[in-house]
Amino acid sequence: MFSSKNGFKKTFLKRVEMVCGTSFAESTERDHFQTLGNMIREYVSNDWIKTNEHYRETKGKQVYYLSIEYLLGKLLRQNLINLGIENVVQEGLGELGIDLSELEEFEADAGLGNGGLGRLAACFLDSLASLNLPGHGYGIRYKHGLFEQKIVDGYQVELPEQWLRSGNVWEIRKADLAVKIPFWGKVEAKMENGRLQFQHLNAETITAVPHDMPVVGYNTDTVNTLRLWNAEPSQFPIHHDILRYKRETESVSEFLYPDDTHDEGKILRLKQQYFLVSASLQSIIKSYRQQHGNLAQLHEYVCIHINDTHPVLAIPELMRILIDEESFEWDEAWNITKNTISYTNHTTLTEALEKWPLRIFRPLLPRIYMIVEEINERFCKELWERYPGDWDRIAKVAIIADDQVKMAHLAIVGSFSVNGVAKLHTEILKNREMSQFYQLFPEKFNNKTNGIAHRRWLLKANPKLSGLISETIGTNWTQAPNELVRLSEYENNTSFLERLAKIKKDNKERLADVIHEKTGVAVDTNSIFDVQVKRLHAYKRQLLNVLHIMYLYNQIKEDSSFSMVPRVFIFGAKASPGYYYAKKIIKLINTVAEKVNHDPKVGDRMKVIFMENYRVSLAEKIFPAADVSEQISTASKEASGTGNMKFMINGALTVGTLDGANIEIRELVGDSNIFTFGLTADEVLHHYQHGGYQSLEYYHHDWRIRQAVDQLVNGFFPGVYNEFEPIFDSLLEENDQYFVLKDFASYVDIQKVIGNTFMDPIKWQKMSLANIANAGYFSSDRTIQEYADDIWGIK
Ligand SMILES: *Cc1c(COP(=O)(O)O)cnc(C)c1O
Repeated sequence: MFSSKNGFKKTFLKRVEMVCGTSFAESTERDHFQTLGNMIREYVSNDWIKTNEHYRETKGKQVYYLSIEYLLGKLLRQNLINLGIENVVQEGLGELGIDLSELEEFEADAGLGNGGLGRLAACFLDSLASLNLPGHGYGIRYKHGLFEQKIVDGYQVELPEQWLRSGNVWEIRKADLAVKIPFWGKVEAKMENGRLQFQHLNAETITAVPHDMPVVGYNTDTVNTLRLWNAEPSQFPIHHDILRYKRETESVSEFLYPDDTHDEGKILRLKQQYFLVSASLQSIIKSYRQQHGNLAQLHEYVCIHINDTHPVLAIPELMRILIDEESFEWDEAWNITKNTISYTNHTTLTEALEKWPLRIFRPLLPRIYMIVEEINERFCKELWERYPGDWDRIAKVAIIADDQVKMAHLAIVGSFSVNGVAKLHTEILKNREMSQFYQLFPEKFNNKTNGIAHRRWLLKANPKLSGLISETIGTNWTQAPNELVRLSEYENNTSFLERLAKIKKDNKERLADVIHEKTGVAVDTNSIFDVQVKRLHAYKRQLLNVLHIMYLYNQIKEDSSFSMVPRVFIFGAKASPGYYYAKKIIKLINTVAEKVNHDPKVGDRMKVIFMENYRVSLAEKIFPAADVSEQISTASKEASGTGNMKFMINGALTVGTLDGANIEIRELVGDSNIFTFGLTADEVLHHYQHGGYQSLEYYHHDWRIRQAVDQLVNGFFPGVYNEFEPIFDSLLEENDQYFVLKDFASYVDIQKVIGNTFMDPIKWQKMSLANIANAGYFSSDRTIQEYADDIWGIK
């Protein structure tokens, strides 16, 4: 149905009537989207079945990736590209008077994630399928993904996201494969055949119904599966208050928690975690049994990877299955479990490390709690033998302490592999945050620097640049991203550099149109497009960016000899609804934007834009248009970052601290092709340990800082009295925990250098080319191949 344009058109016309029950003449664009989606899913189903058959027959090792988040975005065009049918469809539709890019707007972003962690899971799925690797995702089918952000009067307002409003064309509901998940109740032990048997009585069960989505690889027949679980009422027993029961059950897969790198500690969240884990393990074990029978060899055929600690209950759940259902003895069950589970750590921020109070954990998951307690007791006993009398050390690493379950500790103890997500992050894990564990299990720790699906973030998002690349070095880079280095040969080819510049300009025009449409502000595409898009977080330091903008504005107003290269500062960021400080920063950005954009004295020298509702589909329009990539986190705080990689591969130059993967970007492009500034991670960590930083000194000694910081509270912004006091206080009263003022001067300096460099277009394009040419390393194909070889052992 996709092999020729005419064949496609014929089938499409027939299908519109069948799928939508209307004639083509009366059909809507949404009908067209639905029809096309259905056709693609059907087209894929043959390979999907074959892939599964192949996995069953060859009985090779499978990896199951468990993640509480998948930030997928839209799938239509990605699927068309991966299947190699984009042109047939685009042209065929065109002849029917239908614009494919308009159809894309009818697909809702699948926003089942907060930010980097969820997007990483989505990029990994693409690479697994594209590398023909047997890897499948398991997650939760949230009815509402991450909230939709509106900006009203400069403030963030959250609306419930509704991605399922018109259904999800990609999914297939598998009601027959539903499983039951028990909560609450009590556990009884009794002797049976000389063995203690545990029974979970009076549990409230929730049914988990799988909704499978095909994960189509690029230029291959492999179609893997993303299985998302939906929470539904179990039919029996009939509840005394059926409506309440239905509501409470469905609430388990109702909302994604909108908290990014912060531990919320809410009971519903723990329910979600066990729901995901228990449903996924039941499904994994069932399919393993059908192929291999005895679970004693589970770890030879199955690897279960947990994306951060959210699915860590996979460890006690697997123990429970092996012991209670399969009658294994503890030691053998523990050996199988430890060798089946691998774990990625995503952060060292203490506020993000998951801890569950026993008063919540124990009653909700009584049998799982018993097992965690036993794991902890055995672990502490081993420690006692190794470090007799060293209570201090044992208390620090115990899985249960201070009436809490420490999820990261459980993850490290119960897995065979613990990886960080960038070199610096892994070193900090080994030598600082988790050093006690590193001493115990040095062989478990390893690094897997994050990556991005370069086919989405370059091939799909930036068709013009992709076209130029393919014209120049051929198309192999789409599957062998390291081939991008061949572009380096063109660094002295002026006409090539000019074509790069022209493409960037076109992409900036495209974004300028979006900006104008959404905000009413006209921006000059000759300006530097300076972009900071990412979740709003104190450690990501959007505030440093804003204070710099305020400084520039003050200069424009007060110093008639001041000159600067024109810039458009572009922000996009959602703040967690309960994160008071982050919301203040959003209001500040919008307040500054209001003032700057309407000041005739500023003119086109500077514009400040806040783009509402940052998400994957908007990101795809922003990255290709960026000149400057703001990666300015307090060093040591950003585990890796992946936005930095998306900018790089689209030719933006990074202004960044030596944090996360910025360090590896610098290693690849060389010091002269990146703008770094600020404290190093060692310096930051040294200050945390030994003090020695007084933010007030920087306030008093640098008039630029004093002026901007005072403007937060002195009436400079009319009508918002007291609004920014919390920001003022965080900087001065609370001694600026994120070193914003300390890094301010070096940030101002490097920004000046950036402006000057931009005035030399050839030099700028050369630097841009060096970034594109060296970005192949950051393809998630490379990352996934490393996971496959070093951790999972899959082929
Ligand atoms: C890549 C991405 C992120 C992560 O960005 P960082 O700068 O690494 O924090 C967050 N949200 C979306 C929509 C993304 O595409």
